[in-house]
Amino acid sequence: MKNILITGGAGFIGSHVVRLFVNKYPDSHIFNLDALTYAGNLENLKDVEQAPNYTFIKADINDPDVIQNLFDTHQFQNVIHLAAESHVDRSITDPLSFLKTNIFGTVNLLNASKECWKSNYEDHLFYHISTDEVYGTLGTSGLFTESTAYDPNSPYSASKASSDHFVRAYGETYGLPYVISNCSNNYGPNQFPEKLIPLFINNIIESKPLPVYGDGNYTRDWLYVIDHANAIDLTFQKGKRGETYNVGGFNEWKNIDLVKLLCDLMDEKLNKKPGNSQKLIRFVKNRPGHDLRYAIDASKINSELGWKPSVTFEEGLSKTIDWYLENKNWLKNVTTGAYQDYYNKQYKIT
Ligand code: NAD
Repeated sequence: MKNILITGGAGFIGSHVVRLFVNKYPDSHIFNLDALTYAGNLENLKDVEQAPNYTFIKADINDPDVIQNLFDTHQFQNVIHLAAESHVDRSITDPLSFLKTNIFGTVNLLNASKECWKSNYEDHLFYHISTDEVYGTLGTSGLFTESTAYDPNSPYSASKASSDHFVRAYGETYGLPYVISNCSNNYGPNQFPEKLIPLFINNIIESKPLPVYGDGNYTRDWLYVIDHANAIDLTFQKGKRGETYNVGGFNEWKNIDLVKLLCDLMDEKLNKKPGNSQKLIRFVKNRPGHDLRYAIDASKINSELGWKPSVTFEEGLSKTIDWYLENKNWLKNVTTGAYQDYYNKQYKIT
């Protein structure tokens, strides 16, 4: 039986990856290591917590001794590393915690993997999950490819870029077998409502203003989270060691157009008059260093590994809204207490 370590498995993307692996690989044991920060939530994994091939470990990747001990005890054969501080706005107010977890924490995991696997690297893999934001910003045309130079603009993307470099450096310097994938914006069930889509779904439910940064013409590519989890599975199984794969939805949207689509779908689902939710849109002061446009060329993973998204944006968005409407308790539980303080500081709407 293979022991697979998945970090950050109580978070948004990680929970979908853990569920997929626990169900798909009954002969592997899946260890989910997560510090349960504000973004980690074991409610996301209620359906798999009793599975015989699943173990949750509450631990912090910033603690090198704890991480090394866990490798010694469980002899993880493979690592899929998703644990991170992941929200750009929080990185602007607190860059140091991004440096710690995203860089120092990643290097701790690399060191423990190197130490544990050093006698024989064969059959091992360190799979690092990263973002398209490491490439910086595009103008109105062009796409990010795997050979686009790194040019990060936010403390979040700078910390992820640095962690990518460390992973690659451990491959070059020590021969550690690795794969990296850089993905565009994810959306779907279980996403903490500080990111655009769940934040706005929650605000529409509560009839609160929808704060759109700047003029709303900032453009992102969007991918349904379960399609990302499938891309991670495929890359884990078939990705070539030492390679990077860009993952994207072939699905670019200007923020303002996305928000209007979301408002229209919410009006339909909540039986409200068309145009009702759009009245909540408010343009607010732009995010500092806001990248104009991200767009991914996902042709490498498509042609080499045969991956492509399985749902359209409209289908994925509709499923996502249904999930939040059916799981109002989940939303309520994560939006009380500290969330309210963060929200009030972040969005001063007059
Ligand atoms: P998330 O914030 O929802 O989850 C992160 C998880 O990591 C949480 O469960 C948290 O408790 C855990 N964590 C944080 N610090 C930790 C620490 N020090 N030790 C152990 N666990 C810790 O993030 P997400 O959106 O699911 O993103 C997962 C990964 O995917 C991240 O590496 C992120 O950079 C990358 N990514 C995200 C997106 C996106 O759109 N969300 C897109 C591309 C790449």
